Amino acid sequence: MAVIGFIGLGHMGGPMSANLVKGGHEVRGFDLVPAALEAAEATGVTPAGSIAEAVAGADAVITMLPGGKQLLECYDQVLGAASPETLLIDSSTVDVADARKAHERAAEAGFGSVDAPVSGGTAGAEAGTLTFMVGGTEENYNRAQPVLEPMARKVIHCGGPGNGQVTKMCNNLVLGASMIAVSEAFVLGERLGVSHQALYDVVSISTGQCWSLTTNCPVPGLVETSRANHDYEPGFAAALMLKDLKLAASAAEQSGTDAAIGRLATELYQRFNDEGGAGFDFGAIIKSVREHSGH
Ligand code: NAD
Repeated sequence: MAVIGFIGLGHMGGPMSANLVKGGHEVRGFDLVPAALEAAEATGVTPAGSIAEAVAGADAVITMLPGGKQLLECYDQVLGAASPETLLIDSSTVDVADARKAHERAAEAGFGSVDAPVSGGTAGAEAGTLTFMVGGTEENYNRAQPVLEPMARKVIHCGGPGNGQVTKMCNNLVLGASMIAVSEAFVLGERLGVSHQALYDVVSISTGQCWSLTTNCPVPGLVETSRANHDYEPGFAAALMLKDLKLAASAAEQSGTDAAIGRLATELYQRFNDEGGAGFDFGAIIKSVREHSGH
């Protein structure tokens, strides 16, 4: 059993910390929002009054925060309060540059750290079936693996510091682009008289098959797990998809990669967010495709 400090108990961090408790660990949680802290307490997490209290004496500290700004601010406090034997694991999705800054600051203060963003959404967080993409040294990857295990289906070492974030944004570039393509295909089918069911039955067993179709289909009524069946309540909000596509677009620009589809997907999710879609599941972009298709 390990003592784990967990900072950020939101949609993802809440169920992730609950699975660590189920895995037999002592979890000390902290969040700025009292309701998040109370919900975590109900699952067996010990509530802490501050970041310092959550991380003091912990074997590992996991952060699950909105972005890089919050991560770096939080690390300022963590590095002053934890002991250097503590392994720092950041599972938030952040800019590669911020992730590498966090690693540098941790190393300067004598801490081992990994970036370990996740794929699998809130359903994967609840079921303990997330995919963790780990960036860091082999040694720190090996230290992180048993800590992540109760929350994971797979823990994959993607290379040195920051490479977990690189892999995560590559995955979400594919995800965002595929959701738009699936949505366009359904709307095209609607226009030209092919039923949703017929299109689904063919594409789901053909070369166009993908997660955006067979797990989170943007049309309701075809796939049990889809957020479309729940009025597109997220799931994975369009605002977060836009955040991830922007991270991918900025990394593409910085690295000189010609990611034209990534740029276009970013523009289309920006438009959908601007038109009121931010709080809906990212599969709701099909509504935007319909609206912009005219009559
Ligand atoms: P969320 O907004 O529900 O949770 C973030 C939590 O962090 C909030 O409860 C907030 O109060 C807390 N927080 C912010 N600043 C803090 C601070 N300084 N100290 C303590 N707590 C603080 O977001 P989420 O959906 O849980 O996502 C968390 C991260 O995981 C994001 O980086 C997101 O991109 C990533 N992610 C989300 C999903 C998803 O499906 N929701 C999937 C994969 C990855």
